[in-house]
Amino acid sequence: MNRRKFFRNGSLFTLGTTLLNPISGSANTFSQAIGNKNKKAKNIIIVVSDGMSIGTLNMTDLYLSRKTGNGTNWLQLYKDNRVKRSLMDMASASSIVTDSAAASSSWGGGVRINNGALNVSENGEEHLPIWQKFKAVGKKAGCVTTVPITHATPAGFCINSKSRNEQETIAEKYLDLKFDVMMGGGNKYFSSESRKDKKDMYKAFTANGFEVVQSKKEMFNATTDKPIIGVFDEEGLPYSIDRENDKELHEKIPTLAEMTKKAIDSMKDHAEGFVLQVEAGKVDWAAHGNDISGLIYDQVAHDEAVKVAMDFAEKDEETLVIITTDHGNANPGVIYGKYANKNFDTIQNYKHTNDWVLNGVTKTTSAATLKERINYANNISITNEEAKLLLNYYTDLSSEEGLYNPKHLPFNALASIQKQYNSVGWISMQHSADYVELAMYGPGSNLLQPFIKNTDLHYLMLEAAEVENKF
Ligand SMILES: [Zn+2]
Repeated sequence: MNRRKFFRNGSLFTLGTTLLNPISGSANTFSQAIGNKNKKAKNIIIVVSDGMSIGTLNMTDLYLSRKTGNGTNWLQLYKDNRVKRSLMDMASASSIVTDSAAASSSWGGGVRINNGALNVSENGEEHLPIWQKFKAVGKKAGCVTTVPITHATPAGFCINSKSRNEQETIAEKYLDLKFDVMMGGGNKYFSSESRKDKKDMYKAFTANGFEVVQSKKEMFNATTDKPIIGVFDEEGLPYSIDRENDKELHEKIPTLAEMTKKAIDSMKDHAEGFVLQVEAGKVDWAAHGNDISGLIYDQVAHDEAVKVAMDFAEKDEETLVIITTDHGNANPGVIYGKYANKNFDTIQNYKHTNDWVLNGVTKTTSAATLKERINYANNISITNEEAKLLLNYYTDLSSEEGLYNPKHLPFNALASIQKQYNSVGWISMQHSADYVELAMYGPGSNLLQPFIKNTDLHYLMLEAAEVENKF
């Protein structure tokens, strides 16, 4: 594909915008502030919080500010005017409300496809995923996530599949395509005990020259001269707050920031550069469950990964850092009221997620025990009536549906009760059509316009790295 066509495909990029830029008088200072914006990006790190409504970012910033005096690293970049910022329209081919597979595919393949698919259009046409494009020009490529590594967001940068649900096959595709660092959860898609075909994917990866790691210690010790596959839990990794308050999990499971650091260290010395996707996947799961401490503490974990990426990029000066989310979810927020401040601050005393609370309850749990459990997890005293209402869901009198809620636990009912104590409300338990936050630092960030389509990000990444779209 020639240069002209390349630019035409990236529909929002117009040559000469810098000449028309009204702040070009201060271009020098601005250029330094966002880190050599006109240079070529040798490396790209994209840090995605999955399903992050603006209220999630906002509440996490408020939570940290009120607790520590400092807000999020993400918003600090805005406060210091160190990034280019945009809104991005994430619609899929089939809906204004995208799912994670179509969202990641829009960035990964540069084409809007239907919800549920990965880089395959309705007519069967396949779109080459961007991490394969970067591998083809000699770069290393990887993904780290807190959900299964075979899940939609990493998969959308790496492979083609008619369905996002083919996670066992996706694990095999990662092996065939030899991505350099792939780490997250999803043991059930790799283990011979749980796979339908009984194939031991770990053996297959080892036989093909990979280092297989299954604990934080193994990850830290892994050599950096082999590709790494890291799988640390059965399905998603534990929520950050549950991990922090459980010694065993704390020892076994790395944080998103730790995985990010390892992935960068493993790929940074490669002469042709590297590309890395970092996903805080359980922010989305927490939003589906209206699970406030799951949401805020996992957004903090995303923010710590942002810091790892930024610390590297500031020194390196050849790395484009992209910080974003793939769609809104459940659109939470702190609601006006006399006790809003005090109520919101109670979240600082939470020890566990609602996921932890509800999974520890059975049909035989008494109201008193449930009240104690919630008091331990949230430091609040719910009423007997509230406890009884929740317990009804365990005796088949009621049941809740919901993505990532296979046991039909009363997530919505618990969030409604908590709202009186923490002043946090939610509009739903599903994705929303929000235009999403997008921030960029480093070489190539000058290409970002104030409002873009999701597919434009695909072409921006190629253009920033000066990789011609000849595929
Ligand atoms: Zn998503």
